[in-house]
Amino acid sequence: MKLKSTARIKEINKYGLQFFAACLAYEHQYHDELVDDELTITSANDSEHGAKGSYHYIDQAWDLRTRDKTKGQTAQLASFLKRELGYGWDVVIEKDHIHVERDTRNYPDNYPDKENDN
Ligand SMILES: [Zn+2]
Repeated sequence: MKLKSTARIKEINKYGLQFFAACLAYEHQYHDELVDDELTITSANDSEHGAKGSYHYIDQAWDLRTRDKTKGQTAQLASFLKRELGYGWDVVIEKDHIHVERDTRNYPDNYPDKENDN
């Protein structure tokens, strides 16, 4: 996993740890010895992210580079992350990156968990 020089991680919270773990799991599963296919975080809590309420500003969103991936690899990465991260996470394929966020406003941590209902 690499970090673009302009990307700033201000805080590593529990969501950050989950995100990094999911990225490492993807690399572990799909790494090809013959190519440089490390994932690159192009943005974290830095620069302008449009909407004031962006999760980027509270260290709950990260962008991953896709220009070094085929369409198929990008889709594979997005669905891997969605599956790995699960509840409360949004994984969106944008024009030139994959945006990943932990949406705690709509899916707070204390949302009833079906598995622990009894
Ligand atoms: Zn983003």
